[in-house]
Amino acid sequence: MTRPSSAGRFAPSPSADLHIGNLRTAILAWLFARSTRRRFLVRVEDLDDRTFPDIAARQVADLAAIGVTSDEPPEYQTAHTARYDAVIDELTARGLVYECYCSRKDILQAPRAPHAPEGAYPGTCRDLTDTQRAERRAGGRPPALRLRSDTFRYTVTDILHGDYTGVVDDLVLRRGDGIPAYNLAVVVDDAAQGVDQVVRGDDLLPSSPRQAYLGALLGYPTPMYAHVPLVLNADGKRLAKRDGAVTLAEIGVENALAQIADSLGFTARTLPGMLDDFDPARLPRDPWVYRPG
Ligand code: GLU
Repeated sequence: MTRPSSAGRFAPSPSADLHIGNLRTAILAWLFARSTRRRFLVRVEDLDDRTFPDIAARQVADLAAIGVTSDEPPEYQTAHTARYDAVIDELTARGLVYECYCSRKDILQAPRAPHAPEGAYPGTCRDLTDTQRAERRAGGRPPALRLRSDTFRYTVTDILHGDYTGVVDDLVLRRGDGIPAYNLAVVVDDAAQGVDQVVRGDDLLPSSPRQAYLGALLGYPTPMYAHVPLVLNADGKRLAKRDGAVTLAEIGVENALAQIADSLGFTARTLPGMLDDFDPARLPRDPWVYRPG
């Protein structure tokens, strides 16, 4: 397979309408891609069952309304489940997948494995004997599938954060309910779509070492990362719908673009205008506190 030429992307989960913080991240993703002559793609991350087609359609329409359009029709993850199955099969054939029967509570209560950093899966199901596995299976809880990883730490390079080292553990590849895990899907799709520039909210910075490690195991090129500051409400918490008028329908296109441009230090009010002035080195490093008007 020849890899498509390089691309950046915005990959929302259609669980709720995009708010002004998401729109700002999308604009930054578009600016990073265009300023480096990359294609730009929108991908709908709709694997989770708390996502909705009508919200996905509104997200894509809202992005288009502010000028963030995909160079190809947006891809929906639910249309590509064979992709994730194939990768899980490949990793299984390499002996890198095991069944995990732990509940969240089991994981919290398990003693931490020696050397394992805080927050890492404690390894409870990593080396079950056939008998132990048969016993757990008989319990009826369908297992998740985990990656047998051989490191606890991995370092990625981020344009805004520099070298960032974070925890890698035996991450979930497929959840117990059969749904491919976010960390797997995002890595597989970025590679399949030729995405080599990942711009997203900095809440996902701690996930990037896991994703880059998994990508490296699969022989994928490591993307460049830019984790941009989130938008917070007046209480310093992540902006949410309950904070008031935060969606494009509530704020209006012109007003939203003006506020986003101001928050990023642009005088231009259009995406092409912002692109002319775009310099990653001058991006604000602190969260933007948004007070719905
Ligand atoms: N779908 C994820 C979210 O909306 C973002 C995935 C990504 O950008 O890697 O939080």
